[in-house]
Amino acid sequence: MADCIFCMIANHEIPSNVLYEDDKLIAFHDLSPQAPVHFLVIPKKHIESLDAVTPEDAELLGYIMCKIGELAAKAGIENGYRVVSNNGENAFQTVKHLHFHVLGNRPLLWPPG
Ligand code: 5GP
Ligand code: ZN
Repeated sequence: MADCIFCMIANHEIPSNVLYEDDKLIAFHDLSPQAPVHFLVIPKKHIESLDAVTPEDAELLGYIMCKIGELAAKAGIENGYRVVSNNGENAFQTVKHLHFHVLGNRPLLWPPG
């Protein structure tokens, strides 16, 4: 998808600090970390948000969820982490390519802001 910053990261057209990648997903550290460890996991396929997923994406999304625990350990997270996906305006989604924030290595307040 032209003009999508996360597609550009997935295609290595702009640099990022990559934690892990394979043919289906890429995980990279957030440019503006909100916790000692804060990385993003995105499908390489351009999907705008959870509102745009189709039944065809079920395997891909399941794959991403199954990978997150392994990636959290690889990033050095201990004692738990939070997975967040901001979708749409009220959630302040700023990048319109589906992504999962993974935050860890500090206590995370609940409820979120
Ligand atoms: P959202 O607000 O859409 O849930 O999250 C977008 C996230 O992407 C933000 O946490 C922001 O810091 C991060 N981000 C935006 N542009 C870039 C970039 O070019 N590189 C990296 N590594 N993170 C980015
Ligand atoms: Zn994209």
